[in-house]
Amino acid sequence: MIIPKEPHLTPEQEKELEGITGEFGISLQRIQGDKRTVFAMLGDERHELLINRIEGLDYIDRVDTIQKPYKLMSLDSEMAHHSVRVNGAVVGEGFVVIAGQCTIDPKNPNYFYETAAAVKEAGADILRGGVWKPRTSPHSYQGDAKALDILMEAKARTGLAVDTEVMDAEQLKLAMDAGVDMLQVGTRNALNYGLLKEIGRAIKGRSTSVLLKRSMHMGGIDEFILAAEYVAAQGNPNIILCPRGTQPTMDGFRNHPDESIAVLLKERTWAPVVVDPSHSVGKASYVPFACLAAAAYGADGIVVETHVSPKHGIGDDPKQAITPEVLTKVIRDARAVHNLHQGHVHHLGSD
Ligand code: PEP
Ligand code: MN
Repeated sequence: MIIPKEPHLTPEQEKELEGITGEFGISLQRIQGDKRTVFAMLGDERHELLINRIEGLDYIDRVDTIQKPYKLMSLDSEMAHHSVRVNGAVVGEGFVVIAGQCTIDPKNPNYFYETAAAVKEAGADILRGGVWKPRTSPHSYQGDAKALDILMEAKARTGLAVDTEVMDAEQLKLAMDAGVDMLQVGTRNALNYGLLKEIGRAIKGRSTSVLLKRSMHMGGIDEFILAAEYVAAQGNPNIILCPRGTQPTMDGFRNHPDESIAVLLKERTWAPVVVDPSHSVGKASYVPFACLAAAAYGADGIVVETHVSPKHGIGDDPKQAITPEVLTKVIRDARAVHNLHQGHVHHLGSD
């Protein structure tokens, strides 16, 4: 919809507008109200240059587009029936739980092996473990490729699929060669379009999936979905969207919790939504509540930092990892809330 500044355009202005939209195969429909005239665009309006050229006209106030800028991730795309499978299970059927340490400590691999066995016992479906870590300070522990062997050993011992973050092409190659099941794109790289494309190309034709965190600096929901579109556009739509809190923080929490956007993402895209409560609230004692909130908002699962002995962990684990005992209760209760949520959706749908 094109909204002019003045109530009506001159015939010359209208002609200029028609000329521009015509170049993009779009015809204009004049909608004449009592006091002003606006113009509907008939055709595919998802051209950034089209919008920029119209908004650049000094007699135009703004353009409101109805169509979404993403083509593959939307509910009406040909991908809408795609199922993201991890280890054969469909993410989005039931409530998936990804759990494990923020950071694998290569000096203490046994903690990770114990954590892996314990999260499996607690009912988790996928094991997470940070090999390379995006740290705000270059002086903090950055990760170590040795931890990749520990991750893969834990996968072999437990049979769980594994998730780890990659930040560059070298790490991506190492993770793919090792057989990592799920590649995590962290909040700092969710706007790194070059990396998103590279990951998309690397997983093409493979069963690997991508857990795409929301950038803490992203604006609207569509910006998040468009980042996923970068991966999908390379040919493999095995993408899971992961809200993890945004900036500025909510006083008292590590970030501004955003599990509530699960409901918005579900209205706009077919992709499963797995919420990260750990980085969102940033404190172990709040994490269980945030897990339940995620389930209440209709998330398809959670990714929760868990450690057999958080105080012996490195990275985020001492402050925000929950123990396997807590995880067991969280899984039981979050799955119950998930079922309650499904009941509400059916109930509202039948009204
Ligand atoms: C993590 O999962 O440990 C992590 C660094 O996450 P984020 O990118 O969301 O901060
Ligand atoms: Mn972490």
